[in-house]
Amino acid sequence: MAKILIVDDSETVRDQLKDTLTKNGHNVVEGVDGALGYQTFKENPDVALILCDVNMPNMNGIAMCEKIFLDAAIAKKPPIFMLTTESDPELMSKGKSFGVIAWITKPYVEAKLLTAITKILSMNKS
Ligand SMILES: [Mg+2]
Repeated sequence: MAKILIVDDSETVRDQLKDTLTKNGHNVVEGVDGALGYQTFKENPDVALILCDVNMPNMNGIAMCEKIFLDAAIAKKPPIFMLTTESDPELMSKGKSFGVIAWITKPYVEAKLLTAITKILSMNKS
């Protein structure tokens, strides 16, 4: 199916997402904060979608999106879903300008998340 990058400092959230995604045939790579998420992404340029938390140590999710957005070496930027407890409109519009196409507030509904993922992956095919 697709390779999906999960970036979240909560192991519980990462495990939950990984379980949901692998059950649905996806491959998962992970980062525990924005800095390591960015690094994992650089090592896995075939990542088709990023699911990213906002509040994380070292580098937050918005800063990671900005870093990817500004990285001229990344020709094809993957779509990014933010998965967060944050709903600050300023953060949301900042994210949008850095490639965030969906803002999902935790706790997320698994079926809804999967529907959104399937939809974006089929749109981005080829
Ligand atoms: Mg967090």
